Amino acid sequence: MFGSGRSLSLTIASLVCLITCGSAVAQSVAKPASAPETAPMAQSGGAEACSRKNALGTSRVLEVGTTGGLEVGFKTYRHSLLLDDKEVVLTFDDGPVPGSTEQVLDALKAECVKATFFLIGRNAQDHPNLVRREIAEGHTIGSHSWSHPEKTLRGLSEAAAQAEIVDGISAVQTAAGMEAYVAGKPRVSFFRFPGFADTVATRALLRDRNIGVFGADLWASDWTSITPSAELRLILQRLDHERRGIILFHDTRPQTAAMLPSFLAELKRKGYRVVHMVPGSGTPGTLRDALPAWSSETEAILKQVMPGLLRPKASTPKVKHEM
Ligand SMILES: [Zn+2]
Repeated sequence: MFGSGRSLSLTIASLVCLITCGSAVAQSVAKPASAPETAPMAQSGGAEACSRKNALGTSRVLEVGTTGGLEVGFKTYRHSLLLDDKEVVLTFDDGPVPGSTEQVLDALKAECVKATFFLIGRNAQDHPNLVRREIAEGHTIGSHSWSHPEKTLRGLSEAAAQAEIVDGISAVQTAAGMEAYVAGKPRVSFFRFPGFADTVATRALLRDRNIGVFGADLWASDWTSITPSAELRLILQRLDHERRGIILFHDTRPQTAAMLPSFLAELKRKGYRVVHMVPGSGTPGTLRDALPAWSSETEAILKQVMPGLLRPKASTPKVKHEM
């Protein structure tokens, strides 16, 4: 649980904060055998080359199709992205907020690294300049609900939970200068549930709208009052154990912003490569399967901290959506 022997009590406390802290703030390309003269660059259209020598860079772009739905991230789901050994995807939740989000963007820019930001809708509405900076600097943006409710979407009525998704995506799109959410045609096609607490109906809505759901494969526990150096040690320890995966950070957390330059330097020193996931067309394609003994770590934690909000076991019904 939690990768490296953290106590269950800490785990529970951590997930409580993982759930609530957000609302407190409004196939592969091998690494070259020898270091290139300039860092590798992302291959997405319009991405500029990284001119800084010895930067970490982005090793490849992974187009992730979400037609028909997608659910990835071993902490919650049985599948994850097909990453090679020592490949990581960097994701940041709960922003944008002035200060720490800018620090995170500065650190990523210095190393020519592209990441994915899962934005809280009302934060995006309040700070559209930061949303536009994230896009202008080549990062992927996704949605993390409208308000990151403390009860999670699972604690809301079905209508309220669906409104959290639709309003959240709409706010991000509007802040980004896109048209507001139009049923059936969302431009923002990546979503992460607050607290990883999904529901049958919202999963069906997202699948029907061809929006991919992202959990995480490992995290930095940066929702705790951990110091930057302790966070750095912890995430590197977990990464050296897992060796690949979708990493969850929070760009709202000062300790994450503070330790990010050191983390990126350590990734390069240890030979890790950053993969930039971007929305793709079509179905998800081949995913990585969990081991047979897999079980959802986040569900086990939610069962402890929010026993009244267990995930329904019934198979997913076809839900009619009117929004
Ligand atoms: Zn969150």
